[in-house]
Amino acid sequence: MEKSEWIWMNGEFVRWDEAKVHVLSHGLHYGTGVFEGIRAYETARGTAIFRHADHLDRLFRSAMSYRLELPHSQAALREATHELIRRNELASCYIRPLAFRGYGNLGLHAHDSPIEMVIAVWPWGAYLGEDSKRTGIRAKVSSWRRTSPDSLIPHAKASGQYLNSILATTEMVQAGYDEAIMLDQRGLVSEGPGENIFVVRDGTIITPPHTASILDGITRRSVIQIGRDLGYTVEERDVARAELYLAEEVFLTGTAAELVPVREIDDIPVGEPGEITRHIQNKFEDALYGRAEEYLEWLDIVEQPSVERPSKVTS
Ligand code: PMP
Repeated sequence: MEKSEWIWMNGEFVRWDEAKVHVLSHGLHYGTGVFEGIRAYETARGTAIFRHADHLDRLFRSAMSYRLELPHSQAALREATHELIRRNELASCYIRPLAFRGYGNLGLHAHDSPIEMVIAVWPWGAYLGEDSKRTGIRAKVSSWRRTSPDSLIPHAKASGQYLNSILATTEMVQAGYDEAIMLDQRGLVSEGPGENIFVVRDGTIITPPHTASILDGITRRSVIQIGRDLGYTVEERDVARAELYLAEEVFLTGTAAELVPVREIDDIPVGEPGEITRHIQNKFEDALYGRAEEYLEWLDIVEQPSVERPSKVTS
């Protein structure tokens, strides 16, 4: 990964290489953490964090689900993120806030272990590749089922839960595909290991519902709204595996991946990225880069000028 200079850690700005934790931190052993994946884009109005408030909201809901009391407010985390972007002099970046149980007690009921929080920002290109956003990817239905809601909490973006995504990703890479598609415990389509999924059938845009073990993706929410605003019918309903093969168009959405068309599933061609996918993708990118007036409210602009950076004073 590409380093930046500063990381925000427990209320302070520390050097990238100095942002360390104890090896007996609870989160390292049991995955007791919650996190977010956010992006900031360079727009004509300055660096803009996409749907920042919604991401921070989800972070707090994930924390609540696992009874983690976060020691900083949403407002403080927002301000810390703005300051971090300024200090690192990044015009665009990926943003990773993480809260985890730290060092203190390795019992499972570690309510007295401290909760540590970090925010890191660094340059990170499109997760599935810049080209794939134009040409589409080859996907494979995973043999691993998505986290079931009766054993974990699919709606929470919790660190330990990502072992499920990692199993699916490892299998998919070894089999030579670009991304996995996971079914839920009922055998219905759920989502990718780090993306939500949409299919187009008879001109209707369809995405699996909240009851299909999905993460409530913020890109998913944006795409549902954009689709409806553009006049399409968008349905949240269960999707059978066979519908992946019968769909006219399929695409994945996520903060890291953005909007990626799927051109083949299980070696069955879906086809070149379709008209509806392109239409939504263009509008979505306009929203990200501040070119769509109607979605400007989604942007959290990082105000300049930058603060003083003592380490960089050369005179
Ligand atoms: N599903 C999973 C499992 C994810 O990790 C992500 C990425 N956060 C998504 C869906 C997409 O969510 P978002 O659009 O909020 O990034």
